[in-house]
Amino acid sequence: MQTQPKASHFVDGKYLEDTAGTPIDVIYPATGKVVATVHSATDAVIEAAVQSGMRAQKAWAAMTGTERGRVLRRAADIMRARNHDLSVLETYDTGKPYSETSVADATSGADALEYFGGLAGSLTGEHIQLGDDFVYTVREPLGLCVGIGAWNYPTQIACWKGAPALACGNAMIFKPSETTPLCALKVAEIMMEAGAPAGLYNVVQGLGDVGAKLVGEPRVNKVSLTGSVPTGRKVYAAAAAQMKHVTVELGGKSPMIVFEDADIENAVSGAILGNFYSSGQVCSNGTRVFVHADILEQFLERLCARLDTAIIGDPMDPETTFGPMVSATQMEIVKGFIAKGEAEGARLVYGGKQLDQDGFYLQPTVFADVTDDMTIAREEIFGPVMSVLSFTCEDEVLARANDTEFGLAAGVFTKDITRAHRVVKGFEAGTCYINTYNLAPVEAPFGGAKASGVGRENSKEAINHYSEVKTVYVAMGDVEAPF
Ligand code: NDP
Repeated sequence: MQTQPKASHFVDGKYLEDTAGTPIDVIYPATGKVVATVHSATDAVIEAAVQSGMRAQKAWAAMTGTERGRVLRRAADIMRARNHDLSVLETYDTGKPYSETSVADATSGADALEYFGGLAGSLTGEHIQLGDDFVYTVREPLGLCVGIGAWNYPTQIACWKGAPALACGNAMIFKPSETTPLCALKVAEIMMEAGAPAGLYNVVQGLGDVGAKLVGEPRVNKVSLTGSVPTGRKVYAAAAAQMKHVTVELGGKSPMIVFEDADIENAVSGAILGNFYSSGQVCSNGTRVFVHADILEQFLERLCARLDTAIIGDPMDPETTFGPMVSATQMEIVKGFIAKGEAEGARLVYGGKQLDQDGFYLQPTVFADVTDDMTIAREEIFGPVMSVLSFTCEDEVLARANDTEFGLAAGVFTKDITRAHRVVKGFEAGTCYINTYNLAPVEAPFGGAKASGVGRENSKEAINHYSEVKTVYVAMGDVEAPF
C-alpha cells in the first residue's frame, strides 16, 4: 500500500505541501521502519487553513441542515466502502492489528458521520410563550473549530470531532498527533468527495507548537482536544484566555470492580477489553481491577489462561489479536512503569517483557497484590499493564475506586442489579459500565469527570458543545420604561 500521502496537509479542498516545515517521520510500529514523512505546518499553511476554513464555514452554514446532513451521510458511505484500505492505513499509522482496525476505526468514524448527518436536519430552537410576548431560540454554529487528536484512534478522533462540528454548521481544522498523521488526511479527502465545500475540513500536521498556535489563533472559536491531562490543562488555559469554547477528552486511571457473584468469564473478558485492546492504549481503560478476595485466585487463573490465547504478531495478519505499541518512546515509558511495579513490590503474574523482535512489542502484563499507593495504581500508563487489587467490602472498594484525580470511566461486574446501580451511582466517572467494559457507541455521551475532561463527545450532547443558543425576545405591545 502507498503510505506516503500526496502532501503533508489538506487545505482548501486539496493536498498542500510546504517543505519548509520540520520533517516528521511516520514509523510503522510493527517494524520500526519509516513508511512516510510529512512536514510540520508553517505559519503560511496555518494561515491558508484558517482563511479557507472561515470562507467555507459561511457557505456551509447557509445550507439547510438536511443538505449538510446529506454530505455527512455520503461521507459515511464512502468510508464504509473503503473500510479495508482505511483500516490498513490505520494499522500502519498506529500498529493496532487489522482484526481491530477493520471493525473499530473507519467504521466508528462512519457511525459518527452517519449519526450526526442524521441529526443535522433537526437542530432546532424552542418557542417560549410569555403571555402575548414570546421568545424563540436559534441554535447557531460557533464558527471555525479546531480539533487536536491523540495517536491511539486517529481516524475515529478525526470523525468524532469533525462530524458534530460540521453537522452544526461549523468548519474544522484538524491537527492529528505527530505520531499518527496519515489517517486524518483520508478523512479530509472523503469529506471533499462527499460534497463538502473546499476548506470546510482542513488537516494540518505538526507537533504541540502547531496545536498551540491553532488554540491561540483569535479567529478560531472552539477547540476540542483529545490528549493527556497536562496538555489538556495547557489547552484549556490558552483557550480560556480568549474565552473560546472548549472540549477536552483526557486521560484516566479507571476502576473496574469485580464482585464475588460476578460471572468470572465475563469479568475476565471485560478486563481483557479494558486493558489489552489496542495494546492498552485506550484512555478509558479500566486499569485498576478490584477483584473480591474470595475469587481473586480463580480470576487470575482464568485471566492468565485467556492471555495465553492472545495471538501476538504481524498486525496485518487478520489472525493477530495483539499488536505492538505505537512508538519506541511509548514502549519505553511503559517499560519504566513495569520496572516501578516490580520495584514497589507488586507481584508480576503475566508478561512484563519486550518481545525479542523488530517493532515495539510488549507482552500483555498483569500485576497482582497491587496496593492503592503504588505508582502503577495511581498514574496513567497507557500501555498493556493491568493492576489487580483485592477487596472485601463494597463501601471500602468504592472509596478506593474514587480515590484518584481522574474520572473518565468505571465498571462493575455483579449479578446483583441493586448493587450494580448503587455502585454506579457512587462512581465519580463520566462513563460507567455494568457487566461490560469500554463500549463507546456514537449514540451515547462519552467524556470525563474530574481531571479527565470537560464536555462530552458523541450523542446529542455533542451538539451543545459545537453550537450556541441565541435567544430572541419578541414584544407584541408597547415598551414600558420607568421614565
Ligand atoms: P498528548 O497530550 O501528548 O497530545 C495530544 C495532542 O495535543 C497531540 O496532537 C499533541 O501534538 C497536541 N499538543 C501537545 N501540546 C500541545 C499544546 N500545548 N497545545 C495544543 N496542542 C498540543 O497526548 P498523546 O497524543 O500522547 O495521547 C495520549 C493521551 O491521550 C493519554 O493521556 C490518553 O488518556 C489521552 N486520550 C484520551 C481520550 C479521551 O477520549 N478521553 C482518548 C484517547 C486518548 P503532538 O503529539 O503532535 O506533539
